[in-house]
Amino acid sequence: MAVQPKQTLSMDSAAEQGFLNFYFSMSEKPDTTVRVFDRNDYYTVHGKDAVFAAKEVFKTNGVIKSLGSGARRLESVVLSKMNFESFVRDLLLVRQYRVEVYRNKAGSKSSKDHDWQLAYKASPGNLTQFEEVLFGGAGGSGTGAGVVGVRLGSSDGQRLVGVGYVDSTLRKLGVCEFPDNDQFSNLEALLVQIGPKECVLPAGDATGDMANLRQVVQRGGVLVSDRKKVEFTTKDVVQDLDRLLQARKGETVSSAALPEMEKQVAMSALAAVIRYLELLSDEAGFGSFRLTAFDLGQYMRLDNAAVQALNLFQASPDDAAGTHSLAGLLNRCRTPQGQRLLNQWLKQPLVDKNKIEERLDLVESFVEDAELRQSCQDDLLRRFPDLNRLARKFQRQSCTLQDCYRVYQAVGQLPGLLQALERHCGSHQVLLHAVFISPLKDLNSDFYKYQEMIETTLDMNQIENHEFLVKPSFDPTLSELREAMDQLEKDMQAALNAAARELGLDAGKTMKLESNAQMGYYFRVTCKEEKSLRNNKKFTTLDVQKNGVRFTNSKLSSLNEEYTKNREEYEGAQNAIVKEIISIASGYVEPLQTLNEVVAQLDAVVSFAVASHSAPVPYVRPRVLEKGSGRLFLRAARHPCIEAQDDVSFIPNDVSFSRGEEMFHIITGPNMGGKSTYIRQVGVIALMAQAGCFVPCAEAEISVLDRILARVGAADSQLKGVSTFMAEMLETAAILRSATEDSLIIIDELGRGTSTYDGFGLAWAISEFIATRCRSFCLFATHFHELTALSQQVATVSNLHVTALTAERTLTMLYRVQKGVCDQSFGIHVAELASFPKHVIASARQKALELEEFQDVAGGGEDGQDGAPDAKRSRSDRQEGEKIIQDFLTKVKDLAASGISDQDIKEELKKLKVEVLLKKNSFVEEMVSRTTASV
Ligand code: ADP
Repeated sequence: MAVQPKQTLSMDSAAEQGFLNFYFSMSEKPDTTVRVFDRNDYYTVHGKDAVFAAKEVFKTNGVIKSLGSGARRLESVVLSKMNFESFVRDLLLVRQYRVEVYRNKAGSKSSKDHDWQLAYKASPGNLTQFEEVLFGGAGGSGTGAGVVGVRLGSSDGQRLVGVGYVDSTLRKLGVCEFPDNDQFSNLEALLVQIGPKECVLPAGDATGDMANLRQVVQRGGVLVSDRKKVEFTTKDVVQDLDRLLQARKGETVSSAALPEMEKQVAMSALAAVIRYLELLSDEAGFGSFRLTAFDLGQYMRLDNAAVQALNLFQASPDDAAGTHSLAGLLNRCRTPQGQRLLNQWLKQPLVDKNKIEERLDLVESFVEDAELRQSCQDDLLRRFPDLNRLARKFQRQSCTLQDCYRVYQAVGQLPGLLQALERHCGSHQVLLHAVFISPLKDLNSDFYKYQEMIETTLDMNQIENHEFLVKPSFDPTLSELREAMDQLEKDMQAALNAAARELGLDAGKTMKLESNAQMGYYFRVTCKEEKSLRNNKKFTTLDVQKNGVRFTNSKLSSLNEEYTKNREEYEGAQNAIVKEIISIASGYVEPLQTLNEVVAQLDAVVSFAVASHSAPVPYVRPRVLEKGSGRLFLRAARHPCIEAQDDVSFIPNDVSFSRGEEMFHIITGPNMGGKSTYIRQVGVIALMAQAGCFVPCAEAEISVLDRILARVGAADSQLKGVSTFMAEMLETAAILRSATEDSLIIIDELGRGTSTYDGFGLAWAISEFIATRCRSFCLFATHFHELTALSQQVATVSNLHVTALTAERTLTMLYRVQKGVCDQSFGIHVAELASFPKHVIASARQKALELEEFQDVAGGGEDGQDGAPDAKRSRSDRQEGEKIIQDFLTKVKDLAASGISDQDIKEELKKLKVEVLLKKNSFVEEMVSRTTASV
């Protein structure tokens, strides 16, 4: 719980009325925007925001006070500066809310308390104005920030998605345009790859395609901000880009000629983001952006479900509970830029085998060279500040002498770093040279003149006292002023001695000479000594505080005046030089950015190496095979995040895929037996390999995958009911259409708690579809024991099961994955495994046919009506039939769980069957006869 601030909200009644007038005149806002009022030494929040802050910051409603009364009663909470900073950090970085800060033009306690205005604002994708608050001391965050705009268009009758992207931290603009299906699988994958915090969409359009699109964006945890449709126009985009983009060397071509301009839909989305972020109102940012076209296929595609199933990033700080996310586990970075890059690598696993090998080579160098790894990790990398932030300050010429000094220090680390890297003599020496050594050497010489400038201008002696000043000797005016000030300081000391003698006090002990920024120099005595001052007309009291009385006399005040004048002059004279230094420094933005990139890359590579080396069992280098090789083999594979938990001794397992032989594994077995862990670890390992990291296996052979798709039954599917479940399944089927032979599909617990005839039928149909049509790599963990029969039908489907020991009504999980179907008797031991009668399998085949029908229908873009006329005829009959079967199954399930003997169960079953047949439903009859025929 945060400490409650001492400040109270004190306003006279006129000010209070003024404020209330202003507050209630403000436009409405969504709950995801929080408005904060800056009252100089503290902050306040009101209304719903106050209630929210009380709960989040103080964990008690006791801090809520009221302003006004009746209809104009307004909840208010006071935040100290520290409360404010941590609150804002939480809002923007964790919750992804927007924040607006208002300031009073006339000072907070003035009666003109209606004179408030928006001073600054931020949203998760645009943190620029809050940078100091958010990252001030801490050196920066590991997460990127950015805003995308999305617009729909069409080309040759196909749905065309245009995406524009702005990362104002890294000064990047991006555009991407691609066709997509009705579930927007490509957009979803793109959003995972670029990981924006915020998305602007054209307002008003909330039906059909746009509704789906909106859902996809929100499912990815991206905040949606609606903008007017007219803002999505390319009208001014050429002119805007001409201003924003960095001039390319020796070129003065207009942006109109850029190849990216052809992507008109994407460009209009980009234009909307540029407007949203008001990039053109910030002249300092002109000429600093780079524009790139993003190619969706250059990285592995992941859907949101996969990001979650593989636990790439911490979903929310609440579920930290000892489980690492993959990013948390692999991130051993020492710099914020390294951390940002590492997160990006995990979102953008590579698909080019050469590039993967190159990154693995780099990681291997640091895995094998313990000395180099340790010196980078423990010592060298820590010394680099967030150079990206500094580069931006340089570019805006808003840096201070301290910033200049930090860059000086960072560059000063390069010789040591180079020496360490050059000492390495492993097998990838040449690569190390090309990627790190050679660029660092160039940078070291690029900065030669910079270093010289700082050394000649900065007063290095004062830096020890944390004072960043220009050397007095650098300029004759400065040294003159410095001399005069030194003399004045001596004179003031003498004035102290004289005054102390006069008052009978001890100079430097009971009476002191002090100074601060507002008053300059003054005397101070403790309150105890105050009586010696009384009635002495020679001294003027300045103020009385707890720690004493501050006062002055005519001598001191004239000296102080003189001193202040000199100091101002010194600052003036220094300022001219500081400006000059900063202006020269701003010419180093480009090499500074390059240095930032090289350091980030080194940090991320070292981080992978450290994580690989220091795992409970060290990771190994995967053998990467060309895409299309159709092989995935892992020996003794582990789940990196689960094995890192303190209380787990992890049981490794193998997995083997081979095109044409075994591509689809169905995993059954008792609940909590390790099924999920097993199928997810395969995905995690493949992703790690393609991100260029070593993997938690004894041996790994992996063909490059183009996608990882996941379907994970939600824990609450039980509550959702069958129809929602069906809808989800159909959606699954549609999404799976984007899977190829080189994709990995992970399906977990589909239909848990929905152990119904429908659920099973679709699970079967979808499996069959994947196994025979997509032919992707697939792992399917299921409770539908009957699904294992699929292996008899499709040659590439195989069954695996997790093992457990049963004794005396207890189950001991062994977590070993073995070939074959798990012992049927578990079906009785584990009551959750509903047993299905044989004929249900037959009806599942029927469902498979229906799904194909659905495929055709979906392909034609129509809604999902039954196509076949005879299906229509029997629809009501079928609906009734399905209900009969469902009731039957529920009863059977209850029987299985009731604990009566097998013999009794058989008897009861017979009775139930008779009941069903007596209903004379044609659908049921047909199915039963078909089943008997095929058995
Ligand atoms: P299921 O999907 O079969 O219900 P899970 O994969 O969720 O089971 O596993 C349940 C728990 O068992 C996990 O949280 C983990 O603690 C433990 N576990 C799973 N696999 C292993 C393993 N291979 N070695 C050790 N513990 C494991």
